[in-house]
Amino acid sequence: MGYRVHTFSPDSDTPTGQVADLETTASYDNLDQVREFAQSVDVITFEFENVPAACVEAANEFVAVHPRGEVLHTTQNRLREKTFLAGHGFPVAPFRHIKEIDDLYRATDEIGFPCVLKTAGFGYDGKGQVRLAARHDIESAFASLGGTDAVLEAFVDFAKEVSVVCVRDQAGAFAHYGVIENEHKNHILDISFAPAEVTEQTTLRAVEIARNIAEKMGYIGTLCIEFFLASDQRLLVNEIAPRPHNSGHLTFDACVTSQFEQQVRAVCGLPLGSTEFLRPAAMANLLGDMWADGEPDWAAALTDPNVKLHLYGKLDARPGRKMGHLTALASDAVAAAALVRKARGRLEASA
Ligand code: AMP
Repeated sequence: MGYRVHTFSPDSDTPTGQVADLETTASYDNLDQVREFAQSVDVITFEFENVPAACVEAANEFVAVHPRGEVLHTTQNRLREKTFLAGHGFPVAPFRHIKEIDDLYRATDEIGFPCVLKTAGFGYDGKGQVRLAARHDIESAFASLGGTDAVLEAFVDFAKEVSVVCVRDQAGAFAHYGVIENEHKNHILDISFAPAEVTEQTTLRAVEIARNIAEKMGYIGTLCIEFFLASDQRLLVNEIAPRPHNSGHLTFDACVTSQFEQQVRAVCGLPLGSTEFLRPAAMANLLGDMWADGEPDWAAALTDPNVKLHLYGKLDARPGRKMGHLTALASDAVAAAALVRKARGRLEASA
């Protein structure tokens, strides 16, 4: 689109840095560097939510940051996020703030078992969360927190997990990719496919909730609302991701305008593009575990011409780390999911 890109990260040779015009490597706490960086660009966005608030504020002295710092502040902490959602009447699982062990005894009495204890800050992909089956789990679960604030949540016996990837531009226009269906393995997203196998009513409700959240936040850019869909068809918001999201990666190959291009458009003050799906699609994540015996044989995945490979350029292939993904396109989403699983299976078999 003709833009030049300048990245700021504590690491060097980062996935974005590798394709950017300029890469600044400095700590988010180095506010002098942050200010210098901010003066070299026209607009700033971020690709993960755990950038400290002070960093965003320092950048914002010189240049617009989208989405704004307050949104980051809310979404980088589960307690603040859930309090925001519940306070505005959005459906969430019952939750309680946990500071002391007594809070946990009281909260489990109120919420019941099973339940899930999650650290309030810096949690993703199931990191910092522990499931409590009964009263005898309380002491060890509390000890595992290591003294940080936490949230206790009711365990949701969901039928499926779905998400709405959507975008809001500077004029307040809203666009979405419908409902995407997500399957997790070990708390990490494994497979996404779209359109989700849900009723039209669920789609309408999920999109309406997503739109209202984006509006209430005064959000600018791409975001993702992750939901639990209960067996009685109730939708509960699990999490807000204030950025392009893993479940929306399939839009890159499947849609007229990807979630990434929408982010650029929204942040740069352009109108949004069409979210139309050219074909139903599915995505399979490639985790670092696949590198256990060296670089996988990518050709094995690509023997099907309807499969696309995306590798992020992460240097260190740790187990559980998202290194890339495969997308498959087909005549329906379930067929696409079968294709993408098969393609990943060929990679695993060739290892
Ligand atoms: P999170 O990091 O909160 O997104 O959690 C990661 C995954 O753990 C979710 O996508 C669910 O599969 C599972 N999970 C988290 N919270 C709950 C809950 N309250 N009830 C049931 N499963 C959950």
